[in-house]
Amino acid sequence: MQEITRGDIDILVQLQKAETETVRIESFLNKIDKEKSGLEKKLAKFETALGVKKEAHDRVATLCRETESEIEMLGERIVKSNESLRLVKTNKEYQALQREVDDNRKRKDALETSLIQYLEDEEAKKALVDEKASEFTQLAEQNRADQEEIHKKGKNDRELLEQYRQQREEIGVKLDGGLYRQFNEISSTSGGLAVVQVRDHLCRGCFMNIPPQLYIEVQRANSLILCPQCNRILYYAEPEKNTVGVD
Ligand SMILES: [Zn+2]
Repeated sequence: MQEITRGDIDILVQLQKAETETVRIESFLNKIDKEKSGLEKKLAKFETALGVKKEAHDRVATLCRETESEIEMLGERIVKSNESLRLVKTNKEYQALQREVDDNRKRKDALETSLIQYLEDEEAKKALVDEKASEFTQLAEQNRADQEEIHKKGKNDRELLEQYRQQREEIGVKLDGGLYRQFNEISSTSGGLAVVQVRDHLCRGCFMNIPPQLYIEVQRANSLILCPQCNRILYYAEPEKNTVGVD
């Protein structure tokens, strides 16, 4: 059995305190980092959706402008053809030209009917884009405020984390190198909890009942005792006093 002193155990307990704080803050900072990237993702998703709506509006707007200019062109053509009609000499020429005018008129009428729909569609899409764009502005504003809040929340803890990390190191060097390494190993595989009390015959890391012989060893505090179940370093703590008066 690895011999250690009561002093080592005290240092291990202190080390665990710094470790517990370090792990707690790290996990908090991790959580707020996730919150932050969650906000960013949400905003990016909204922006993409807005982009899709804008493109749909742009497409119908282009269709409207193209239709309008085609209608205009057909109108001009019809006017020209009508002028030409007055000048033609033969019946055949007249009929051909008249047919052209009729065709162009039909096409123009059809386009004008379509244009009404296109314009309605354009208006509806424009309204949707405007609505979503203003929602996006609000969301972006909210996002900025939230991000700032998160940043503030994390700032103090980041400083505190540095302090605990430093403290942890300062305490660590007081220990024998092997013992310090062992602490680090156990901590990294046990969720940041390497040193636990045995109280009321229970390991406070995994709540296993400590066998009587081992319990005595832990109370003696002159060797390194690991919990047989969770493998954490055990130390003895007085049983909890019952504060409510019995008997
Ligand atoms: Zn245990």
